[in-house]
Order: sequence, then structure tokens, then C-alpha cells
Amino acid sequence: MTRIALIADIHGNLDAFRAVLADVAADRVDRIVCLGDIVGYGPEPCECVELAFSTCDRIVLGNHDEAAIDESMRFAFNDRARESLEFTAEQLSSEHRSMLATLPDRARVDGVSLAHASFGVEPYEYLYNEDAAIRSLRGLRTRVGAVGHTHHPGLVSGRQALAGEIEDVTHQTLPGHVVVALPADAVSIVNPGSVGQPRDRNPDASWAVLDMATQTVQVRRVAYDVQAVQRKIAAIGLPGMLGDRLLVGA
Ligand code: ZN
Repeated sequence: MTRIALIADIHGNLDAFRAVLADVAADRVDRIVCLGDIVGYGPEPCECVELAFSTCDRIVLGNHDEAAIDESMRFAFNDRARESLEFTAEQLSSEHRSMLATLPDRARVDGVSLAHASFGVEPYEYLYNEDAAIRSLRGLRTRVGAVGHTHHPGLVSGRQALAGEIEDVTHQTLPGHVVVALPADAVSIVNPGSVGQPRDRNPDASWAVLDMATQTVQVRRVAYDVQAVQRKIAAIGLPGMLGDRLLVGA
């Protein structure tokens, strides 16, 4: 049984990523898994790709990672995201590109299913409401899964009924530093929040420890120098809003 560090949505934010890895190193985790979106939005995509590949035991592909190496995917993004993806694509070497191209959509580590966004048919669906949560829980083939994508730390659970249906769905936001038990007799999907672009009105970088022995999850929040990243974004000439949102965690 294993303690797994879950990290997601680094988004080219090297300062936040380094701060999280220092916090992870201070913990006794057995594995580090990355739930995708290493790049996009942030100023240091290449460094983040290299650091993710050298530190994480398993990584799945995110929609920004995919769009950074496949131009045809970018139409689905808003202008600011697309602009940062074009910057990211210019920065990535052919080696970085081949690294990202090796990433699978889904993986399984120590009995935990991993995906960037959902285990449902639509791989990049946001688990914002109960119907989306049910579609994802229905696609889960293990008792516990982990996803990122929404940049909100949280836990959705449901009871597996006959014929594969999911009932009694619950959703809880996961506050930092509180150990939360995974509901018994239910299937659960954990979201550790975002390392590099939190959107839950808390600017601190977010990650989570999933402890399969105790069946608990604990989100951890880590302060880092947000203004330094904001200056890097401004120096590159990326939209200022991408730096401003980091200050407020939105
Ligand atoms: Zn993301």
C-alpha cells in the first residue's frame, strides 16, 4: 500500500513546481504522479517538461500538452490560452515534443486510475456538475481515480449500483492540510488542485497526498513567489491577465 503524491496542472509555472517538489520531498511518498497539463499559460514550459520527466514516476497527457504539440487542437481554446500555447510551441524543442508525444491518456499506478480530466467517453470533460461526475465515475475501473483539469481540489464519490449505475453522488472541496477519508463502499475520484494556476481563490500551489493504506487524501498548499512569475509572464509579453490571475488564484 502506498502514499502517492498527486500533482496536476503545472502549466509552465516552474517556481510553483519547484516549491511543490520541495514539499513533496519533505514527505514520505512512495510515488509521484502527474495528471497532465505540464505546459500552457506559464512562462517556463521547457524547464517544467524536463523537471516533470525527471521527477515523476508516471505522467498522463493533458489537453494543453496535446495542443502544444498538435496545432489542430488549439481551436478549442480561448485567445489567451491559444496565445500562450503558441509561445509554448515555439519554445519546445523537438526532444520536448517527442517526450510529450509519449504520454498516455490514462494510466494506472498502485491500483489508482489516472486521467487528466475524466474517465468518461469525453476525455477532457470538466467535472463541474453531478452528471459529469457520474459519467466519470461510471468509466472508472478501480475504486479510486485521480484527475486534474478543473484546477479545484476536490473529491467526488458515488456508490456503484446494479448495471454499472452510480448513485448517491457526493462532491466535497478539499481544504488545505485536512486529512479526508475516502468514503467506504464507494468509488472516488480525487483532484489535487493545480500546481501552477490554482482557481479556488487561494494563490498557493496545490498538490495532494493520496494514502492507499489509510484510504485518505490530504491536499497541501505551498506558498511561492507569485510576483516573480508575474514578472516573467510580463517580460515575455504574454497577456498580463495570466499573471494577474495567479495573484488571486482565479
Ligand atoms: Zn489545466
